[in-house]
Amino acid sequence: MIPAFALKLQPADRNALLVGIMLFVLPILAALFAHKPLTAYLVEYRMQQTMDGITGLINQQTHDGESADNYSKLMSAFQFDCGDRDQMVISSPELSPREVRVVQLELANGKKCSNLGAAVNFHLDSIKKIDGVPIYLGTSRSPMLESRALVYIMELGPHRILAMVNNRVYSDMLNDNCKNCFQLVFHYPGLKPILLGPATLQQHNYQFTHERMADAFKLQLTLNAGDQLHREISQQVWLVLLLTALATGFAANWLVAHWRSRRISPGYLIRHGLENNEFIPYYQPIVDISTGEVVGQEALIRWLRPDGKLIPPNQFIPYAEEHGLIVPMTELLLDRVCTDLPSLQGWVSINIVSEHLEKQLLSQYLRRQQADVSRICFELTERQPMTNFNAAVQEIEVLGEMCHGVKLDDFGTGFGGFGYLHKLGINCIKIDKMFIDTIGTDDLKRGVLDSIIAFGQETQMEMVAEGVETLQQVEYLSSKGINLVQGYYFSPPLPLSELLVRYPVFQRQQR
Ligand code: C2E
Ligand code: CA
Ligand code: CA
Repeated sequence: MIPAFALKLQPADRNALLVGIMLFVLPILAALFAHKPLTAYLVEYRMQQTMDGITGLINQQTHDGESADNYSKLMSAFQFDCGDRDQMVISSPELSPREVRVVQLELANGKKCSNLGAAVNFHLDSIKKIDGVPIYLGTSRSPMLESRALVYIMELGPHRILAMVNNRVYSDMLNDNCKNCFQLVFHYPGLKPILLGPATLQQHNYQFTHERMADAFKLQLTLNAGDQLHREISQQVWLVLLLTALATGFAANWLVAHWRSRRISPGYLIRHGLENNEFIPYYQPIVDISTGEVVGQEALIRWLRPDGKLIPPNQFIPYAEEHGLIVPMTELLLDRVCTDLPSLQGWVSINIVSEHLEKQLLSQYLRRQQADVSRICFELTERQPMTNFNAAVQEIEVLGEMCHGVKLDDFGTGFGGFGYLHKLGINCIKIDKMFIDTIGTDDLKRGVLDSIIAFGQETQMEMVAEGVETLQQVEYLSSKGINLVQGYYFSPPLPLSELLVRYPVFQRQQR
């Protein structure tokens, strides 16, 4: 059972909506602050990464072309007649990889053959010899090409072989993640610059440049970027940061909701209440109507919440009984009763469950007390079935010697009955309000009340009538010889301070 009070908002929870909103606002603010430095970092990272890719490819190409190995391999591979064999060699994947657009063998006799079949006019517009190797670097600006391309030229005796770089491979690398964002320029002293990517970049707000030297022929590479790269990365960063902020907001709200629900769960609240001694006894006097004297009282637990609310036992006792909290709760109540004992009249009855008896917890507790425990007694309800009957019987016997004994509560409503009472060795019963209510009516249960009374008198049971509300009930019980009465007719359960004020009233009633 979830107590109704647990579902009501606590004062701190009134701010729940505000906290929920803040849990979204804070990550969004963090995203706002993080956006600028993160974008700058990622732009720098993307420049670096693009440059690494380009230089890696350039270095691989130039190293391959430059090696002496390659030179002698080519010398022996070609027949230098542009025949079938030469054609096969220039079209082989080693000479015509993806990064090379055209490979052409030019013989000393002026004959030319290329991997495209027919001879190609390279339109070399600048050319430069590389020191120490039989290699030239050139640039080609053929009308077919959108941009100038780099050409490697290797002398093979009186002949030469030309390889024109495929700009598309580099352009694809540049456009890989960000279309038209990068511009790449190859420089080499004495050669015309080669420009890949857009001829002009928009650089109104941002200007990024990275320079690098490709190690093989000391080709100088310049990578430029501007507004567009920044814009694209900035948009990606916004998207990721906002999604992360929203996800964080949802996750934080979920965690807080989870934490809150735990905090208002009955189990949590009761445990917390036990730690804070929030459970207190109210006392309802039991009056001997033959003398008008208060002979004892029943301690009825109340939960006094920190906000001053008083919670009746039917809202938490069933939960405490089901979830193993009733034992510490009863112990807390007993502590309070022991403290109050000197101010109270007669005996004090405390409600217990069968677990108390089966585990023999009460005799252990009473032995530890300094107070006059002989004035304490217990009321056993039949809500929990008895599993260890023998241990319970033993405990009842011990309690009979140590204190005022054990009564059977709500007699007639449970599964036990007369035989059960006898086996347990209990000699006091509390006649339930359900039967008292039949007095003055023609309810069939009235017969049950009379049988209970007859049985009690026959077996010399002590009997306490509870829930007595009217004079008619008091008189009927009196006529039947029932003298111990508890009910609103005399007093509701009261806190100790009020009960102490009422005692003199009882005395006056007696006179
Ligand atoms: P109960 O042991 O049968 O206690 C009698 C209940 O009847 C009390 O309700 C009392 O306030 C109420 N009552 C007494 N006289 C009258 C009357 O004239 N008219 C009406 N209408 N009611 C009357 P309360 O205090 O709400 O307790 C309810 C039940 O909670 C108790 O019934 C008992 O079973 C349980 N309880 C109370 N304190 C404890 C405790 O410390 N431990 C355990 N295990 N159960 C407890
Ligand atoms: Ca009781
Ligand atoms: Ca009762």
